Amino acid sequence: MRVLSTPEWRQQSQLLDERNRLQGLLGELRAAATSRGDYEPHDVTDDEAAMQADVIEARIAGIDGALERIESGVYGLCRACGTAITEARLEALPATTTCRECA
Ligand SMILES: [Zn+2]
Repeated sequence: MRVLSTPEWRQQSQLLDERNRLQGLLGELRAAATSRGDYEPHDVTDDEAAMQADVIEARIAGIDGALERIESGVYGLCRACGTAITEARLEALPATTTCRECA
């Protein structure tokens, strides 16, 4: 494991906090769906919960990707053009892989 610089360490802990939060939400959605049981007819609410769960899973996958990029030292670099992504953009979208120009 690489020794992280202070900004990398800050981003990593921010991403891990967000990941924990999303995983908690996902657990709640799953628990709510399970408690209703498989024999209940599927209504709109179940579909919405499933869609929300998909969105949350995609965000967790994005965060995992960002955590891997921090580990390999390429976090904060645009995947398309290779320039550094601004700190403001990373604060707003910690899992982003492109700069504002390439987004
Ligand atoms: Zn770019």
